[in-house]
Amino acid sequence: MSDETITVLTGDRPTGPLHLGHYAGSLAQRVEMQKGDGRIFIMVADSQAYTDNIGDTSKVSAAIPELVADYVACGLDVERCTIFLQSAVPELAELTQLFMNLTSVTRLQRNPTIRDEIKKRGFENSLPMGFLSYPVAQAADILGFRATHVPVGGDQLPMIELAVETASKINRLAGRAILPEPTVVLSRVERLPGVDGKAKASKSLGNAVFLSDSPAEVKRRVQMMFTDPDHLKVSDPGKVEGNVVFSYLDAFMTDRERLADMQAHYRRGGLGDGSVKKELVAVLEELLAPMRERRPDPVAGRDFCLQVLREGSVVARDVVAGVLSEVRAGLGVLTL
Ligand code: ATP
Ligand code: MG
Repeated sequence: MSDETITVLTGDRPTGPLHLGHYAGSLAQRVEMQKGDGRIFIMVADSQAYTDNIGDTSKVSAAIPELVADYVACGLDVERCTIFLQSAVPELAELTQLFMNLTSVTRLQRNPTIRDEIKKRGFENSLPMGFLSYPVAQAADILGFRATHVPVGGDQLPMIELAVETASKINRLAGRAILPEPTVVLSRVERLPGVDGKAKASKSLGNAVFLSDSPAEVKRRVQMMFTDPDHLKVSDPGKVEGNVVFSYLDAFMTDRERLADMQAHYRRGGLGDGSVKKELVAVLEELLAPMRERRPDPVAGRDFCLQVLREGSVVARDVVAGVLSEVRAGLGVLTL
């Protein structure tokens, strides 16, 4: 990408360490995009994390600098990207408050990702307002930077749809194009499954290979992965579809020819799960070993990570303050 009019906004909730699902779904794209001329904003979404962790803020506090360490480990360049803390940009909260008036409660209740997450968190009978409305805040995060591109996993599609809708409502009310309608950038791997065979590897479920895992942990988690339950003997023909080990190979193996050979061999029989898992461990190590080298020390590097956020948040505030005043003016809101 070489267009300097590109603005990227994306981020993660500081609820635990990042995993391979994040890498495949979003981080790898960010690392690629930072090579272009566009502006890249990466948000540590602490306010969003509080929507379902308000009783456990110490977990979020600990995860904040660790998330920045994960970014550095992945190869995100703190000089090229503006990495900031959501709650350190209060203008985003003000924009959220305005946007709340443009979306109905039923519209949010219909959001399939939210419905899923409500069930997962047992919020059916007591749904925090902040949680239900976090997609509105997410629209503010995206539009507050006039983001044109949002690299996220497939679960975020309904959120981006709401951001597009909100931009178009603001523009209509203002009678001019104040906010660009953002485009979602989906990676080839929209949703990496969990090592336990669940549809999505997720921080909260802990069913993932984490970017900070040691070689022994990586090996252990690969050993846990589901394969084809009917592939009992090595000579049995096996299924590649729905086989977690092959899903991971498909996501991370760069030698596509070798992968195609392995898939064909497994399908016709004669390739054991042990050999496939061994190959996967090697593929993952190739990806994760350089990340271990780049990772700031969890203790000594903590201040550096917080300083990255402090500096990024000053830059981010400046950008969002400008957009907020334009939105207010566009809506005809009186400013004293
Ligand atoms: P939580 O369980 O706390 O919601 P999470 O694992 O879903 O955590 P988020 O911080 O909500 O992680 O998501 C950050 C980004 O990573 C989003 O763009 C999301 O779509 C993407 N992502 C998360 N898990 C996966 C996955 N398994 N496959 C592909 N993308 C993913
Ligand atoms: Mg999530």
